[in-house]
Amino acid sequence: MGIKVAKFGGSSVADALQIEKIKNIIEADNDIKYVVVSAPGKRYADDSKITDLLYLCKTHIEHKIPYEQIFQVICDRFMAVDVNLNAEINLKKEFDEIKANLEKGATADYIASRGEYLNAKLIASYLGYDFVDAASMIRFDEKGRFMEDLTNTAIKQELSKHEKAVIPGFYGAKIDGTVKTFSRGGSDITGALIARAMEADVYENWTDVSGFLMADPRIVKNPKPISMISYKELRELSYMGASVLHEDAIYPARIANIPINIRNTNKPEDPGTMIAAEPDKNSDRIISGIAGSKDFTVIAISKNGLSTERGFIRKLAGILEDNDIAIEHLPSGIDTVSIVIDNRALDGKLDEIIEEIQRQLKPDHIETFDNMALIATVGAGMLSRTGVSATLFTALANAGVNIRMIDQGSSEMNIIVGVENKDFEKAIKAIYEAFVS
Ligand code: ASP
Repeated sequence: MGIKVAKFGGSSVADALQIEKIKNIIEADNDIKYVVVSAPGKRYADDSKITDLLYLCKTHIEHKIPYEQIFQVICDRFMAVDVNLNAEINLKKEFDEIKANLEKGATADYIASRGEYLNAKLIASYLGYDFVDAASMIRFDEKGRFMEDLTNTAIKQELSKHEKAVIPGFYGAKIDGTVKTFSRGGSDITGALIARAMEADVYENWTDVSGFLMADPRIVKNPKPISMISYKELRELSYMGASVLHEDAIYPARIANIPINIRNTNKPEDPGTMIAAEPDKNSDRIISGIAGSKDFTVIAISKNGLSTERGFIRKLAGILEDNDIAIEHLPSGIDTVSIVIDNRALDGKLDEIIEEIQRQLKPDHIETFDNMALIATVGAGMLSRTGVSATLFTALANAGVNIRMIDQGSSEMNIIVGVENKDFEKAIKAIYEAFVS
């Protein structure tokens, strides 16, 4: 008998019908001991997430606009679930308490966390499991920084008292008891922390897709699913924009060596994607996936003798740091270096940065390109295999895509190319066809 932690995301617990599905999943597998739930998410494309509505209540109060109507929409959704599932919790008492706290000036984190809190209470009652509040286990310090070791011990201590439990995701509490949330989508992190502390055999992450696909289905038609991928490969893909799982959920599972299985609540028969320490040894695929994002700026700097000048890169990095901007990539040549920055982080500071580079570094030439897209082709199968870059560059050349930048990580697990925004989709299709079809 093993231990599994199963986390169900917003769409998996959006209404009574979905919650019935998760009950079937949980009852079919006696190893699922700990269930982590999100707040009810969207039931259909233009529905609202409960978490968004809760934040909206808080904003209304801050602007002294009546919030009661929105609050009622939230109450109605929980009441409908309660009625349909015959759960036995006193929702009216819970709503009154939340409302009273709201009016006393409760924080945005507290109000946002109530979606997970109420949903976990409802689901625990429906499943006949214990409800264990995350506020008693997930710890933050007074500045709101996550406390890893304390949390790990607290989870072990608390959950070892419960054979089966439902735990709300997304939040914990500071030492003084005030609620603190993770960033959006953070229930994934709660699930990973519980899996780590309870030394689970698997962390199942149930969502509304059957795992990761090798490319974005909005760009590539019917991309193949990824049945197995290593944490490292996934990290590279998620960094580049492939999102199914919160990035910070990988670390706790990774250090405890617990595989994460992404599953689909609406298609429980699908095996989904297994994320594990090692890449799939039986796969003969060269690449695992392709991901990318648009809207980066490249600042290309050249200076004669740059490669022998002391402190050049340090000063350059310092200018960016002073402006609180992260450098995404730093490809370099003999007397050239380029920095790649996310446009969203640049926030109108480009001219200032260029002036500062000119003043401090006195380059011979400086040029900017502001409409770059980055595409990462990731795969442990590329490791020490020859001809991979040739295939990739030939595919892009044949598609008429001009490559502006190339960066191959020393891990040899990815090749990142910079292309113009307008070529983004075309480039991804070409790479996919060259390696997969
Ligand atoms: N409910 C929170 C959100 O919408 C957290 C989560 O679902 O993971 O971001």
